[in-house]
Order: sequence, then C-alpha cells, then structure tokens
Amino acid sequence: MGGFIFWKTWMWLTIITYSNTKFPQIPATTCDPDVKIVPVAIRTDNYAYLIIDKVTQEAAVVDPSGSPLTFSGSFPFEWLTTPSPPFPMCTPQKPDPKAVLDTLAVEGDEVKLTAILTTHKHWDHSAGNARLLKLFPTLRVYGSAIDATPSANQKVYDGDEIRVGRLLFRGLESRVHTKGHILYLLDQPGSSHPPALFSGDAVFIAGAGRFFESTAAEFYQLVQRLGKLNPLTTLFPGHEYALANLKFAETLDQNNSVLQAKLGAVRALRATGLSTTPSTLQEEFLYNPFFRSSDPRLPR
Ligand SMILES: [Zn+2]
Repeated sequence: MGGFIFWKTWMWLTIITYSNTKFPQIPATTCDPDVKIVPVAIRTDNYAYLIIDKVTQEAAVVDPSGSPLTFSGSFPFEWLTTPSPPFPMCTPQKPDPKAVLDTLAVEGDEVKLTAILTTHKHWDHSAGNARLLKLFPTLRVYGSAIDATPSANQKVYDGDEIRVGRLLFRGLESRVHTKGHILYLLDQPGSSHPPALFSGDAVFIAGAGRFFESTAAEFYQLVQRLGKLNPLTTLFPGHEYALANLKFAETLDQNNSVLQAKLGAVRALRATGLSTTPSTLQEEFLYNPFFRSSDPRLPR
C-alpha cells in the first residue's frame, strides 16, 4: 500500500511537471539536470528523442524519421506486406529529418549530434538516417546486428555499451516487433537519477508493439527482463498511443483504480495536445495488460 501511495504521489508530481511542458520542444524530463531528453513529434504520432549531455553538449537522437519518399533503396514498405493491417499513418509528411534538425537548431549551435540510435528498421523510425548521415558524415549510426537497419555503420548486439559524451547507453535486444528490435537503456553509472528506456515499437504506454516478426512468448521474455530493471526507469516509446491503449486496457480491467487514474491523466494531457511520455516501468506493471499476463484479474 505504501508503495502504491508513493507511486501515486510520484505519478501526479510527474504529471504536474510535464503538463507545463509544451509539446514537443521542451525537455520531457529533468530528473537529471545534466541530461536533457527532448521528444520530437514526427508525422502523426511518431516520436524521435534528442538526448543531450549537458556537460559535453554531445547529443544522440533515437529514431529520426521522415518521409519514405526521400528514402532510396530496397528497404521501405516491406513491412506493409505483412498480413497485419498497416498503421493508419502511411502518408508522407515532413521531408526527413526536418523535425530533428529543427529541434537541434532550437537547442543551439553548441549541441553536437554525434550518434543515431535506431530501434528497428521500419521506415517511420529510420528514414532520417541517410539524410542525417549526409549532413553529419562522422555520425555513428547504431542499429541491430540482425535487422537490416538503413545506413547503420555500428552494429548493436545485446548488452553493447554506447557512449555519447558522458552518456552511457546499453542496447537490449528484444526480438519483439522485428527480429532485431533494440531498446536503448540510458543508465548513468553512479547516478542517483532513474534510468531512461527508449523502447521504439516494442513497448508502448499501456500497450505492446505488433508482433510482426515475433511471438507473444518473446514479448513475455522481454517483460521478464524489464521487471529486473529499476522500477522507476522512465519509458519513452516510439509512438503516442497512450490514450487508445488505455481505453483498450479499460475494457479488460474495469476495476483498476490505477488504470483509471492514468487514463484520466492521459485524457487531460491529450486534450491540450501535450505528450504523454514518459511513463515508468513501475506504472506499466500496474495497468499495461501486456505486462500482466499472469494477473488473474484479466480475462484469460
Ligand atoms: Zn515498427
């Protein structure tokens, strides 16, 4: 119970903090004053994240995306041939990677983009890689050693450490959504601040990514692994799906007061156009139906 009260207090403090945040160009988290995480809205509901080491001014961007029309090569659209219905957002919009560049410009000339962290190969997460690499030829472009990640020049294997300035990321291979989907955990050694997890299309607030090339069993394995991380780890997913996911979760779990509180908070944020990121792993274990497959309160 004490844990619940702590969680509830923490959640509302979080919401109060973030509801003052104008989406998308203000930091989503200020847990660690030396690290700035900026969500970048792309297309209809994608997120890239600019992560800046405030001490060295080096920065990484997670999943810069953009228009598939500007991408050349054999990669785009292969995922649309899967039997699952495509996402309702396949219309090209901004030329890539304008949103990321605009955000960089807001942060100032002293911020140097040195790395791209690609969670997976789908074009709405990786279509900006080629153009950014052309603009910044020394960029390290990280991507799965299993997936054919566009423009990747640094292969990521499970547990690999990636340094960007003073920032230390660890790649977590998930095998969820795509065979080589990588989650990136920012976990500063010796820091008293909670880690941050960039989860791409593997894990969403109150939801899970489609199992295009994976199984429910592989998602369960990922959940088991996430359960061993710091519960206050902040979760930054690849899409703004929280409201729809929570509405679905409510149909399965109508007496969950934590879910109801989260749904109310997310409704309020979306009503004013604010981002719902991040949540925490601790929260997800309380309302995300995909994290609670063994919970007897959910339908079998
Ligand atoms: Zn995807």
